[in-house]
Amino acid sequence: MISATQIYDYVQCPHRVDLDLFGNLALRDEPNAFVELLWEQGVTHENTLASLLPITTNLKDFPLADREQGTLAAMQRRDPLIYGGRLTSGDLVGEPDLLELRGNGYIPGDIKSGSGFEGDESDGKLKEHYAVQLAHYVLILEQLDFGDGTHEAFVIDRAGDRVPYCLDDSKGVRTPETWWDIYQQALAEVREIVQQTQQTLGALSSVCKLCHWYSHCKAVLIANDDLTLVAELGRTKRDVMMHDVPNVATLAVSDPTAFFNGKKTIFSGIGQDSLSKFHARAQLLSTPGASAYLTGVVNLPIATKEVYFDIEADPMRDIVYLHGFVERLHGDATTARFNPFFADGIEPLEEEAVFRKAWEYLVLRVQDSTIYYYSKYERTAYRKLAEKYPTVCSVDEVNALFALPAMIDLYFDVVKKHTEWPTYDQSIKTLAQHLGFQWRDSNPSGAASIEWYHQWIESNDPAIKQRILDYNEDDCLATGIVVDGIKQL
Ligand code: SF4
Repeated sequence: MISATQIYDYVQCPHRVDLDLFGNLALRDEPNAFVELLWEQGVTHENTLASLLPITTNLKDFPLADREQGTLAAMQRRDPLIYGGRLTSGDLVGEPDLLELRGNGYIPGDIKSGSGFEGDESDGKLKEHYAVQLAHYVLILEQLDFGDGTHEAFVIDRAGDRVPYCLDDSKGVRTPETWWDIYQQALAEVREIVQQTQQTLGALSSVCKLCHWYSHCKAVLIANDDLTLVAELGRTKRDVMMHDVPNVATLAVSDPTAFFNGKKTIFSGIGQDSLSKFHARAQLLSTPGASAYLTGVVNLPIATKEVYFDIEADPMRDIVYLHGFVERLHGDATTARFNPFFADGIEPLEEEAVFRKAWEYLVLRVQDSTIYYYSKYERTAYRKLAEKYPTVCSVDEVNALFALPAMIDLYFDVVKKHTEWPTYDQSIKTLAQHLGFQWRDSNPSGAASIEWYHQWIESNDPAIKQRILDYNEDDCLATGIVVDGIKQL
């Protein structure tokens, strides 16, 4: 049976569906504590929100074997809101959180612990992995003759707001395909994977880091010298290129201009600049002992002090719980001092208090320091905090502060624009480790830090708090290491 979870997994990575069905389970990584936490928090969140809804039939506690019968019976009775149902039709199975009676039929809904939208909510862009799951339920309802004749569904998001998912809408301005088309395509390909008529390949990407096949796939991709080892090349471009350029070594020794075709390249969706960039990265990866280099002039402002800035946030609780700053005299690593602002609780008052202190610190330091942060996450988080706590500062003040020449987004302003590295990605962890920096923690990651924060909230154990602080301090120091490394280039 093909489930909505498989469709969800498919749009993240087809290979995951394949390995989950046919892979050697002994090669899976140990369960990831953060993924388990996400799951537990998702269940708690769902229960909380469900308790606030006018549910007329609750099938959650039914034995699995009886749930489908219970769902069909409830729909035949025309119950207005069914929770925890189970539907099957042919080779399809789905467990929508909610089935809502509308007119003569039902529309499905899911309760999610994330935002109902992709990225910035104000863009109003729907999430593909939510849309395809909902479409899966709609199709089963249609086949059972319980649909309402539309392709509409909804998500109840982390704030408890209802986000309509109109699946006949186009995915976006540049993608005329509808969400329904995307689902139909995904379903057809999952069927082929289930029937083993389609082979899949792994592809190194950001989703891999939370996947239980990560170690296995990474080893296979390295052994195959797969093109997705080239930073930012990714699955789609690899699939377009691999007929002509099967691996990194081939790309490295190729002449990229041989693939140019007028103003484009022979590879759909890959421009000449991108191909040249990938070629340069492939050369770095294929050269033992290769070093990073500059691709343009980098001008970093010089001030009395330098500050490296990194925040830690918990998306499940929607709280920024730590603002970390390492400050030091310009060019003198021995003077580095860590200034953390840590929220000792999860209440808005506590989040506001540390935001206020961090904001005052930044406003003061920007007068005599160059302040480095890595990518747009800090700026986006500060805008949201300013919206939440306007007595601390306004969004305009946040925008003005981050626009100052002393505020440097090390990733977007420097690394991405003006450097190349012999690494599989350009995350701060990868680059600092490439330069020899070691985190004190054996498992350093933002995801792990969120899991420690949950442990700390429950236990108040000072050792866990210290682990979080050490991790954040190391993240800040790592930013300094990359700044120093770039200065040396
Ligand atoms: S590790 Fe990456 S490539 Fe492998 S199955 Fe998971 S998501 Fe796919």
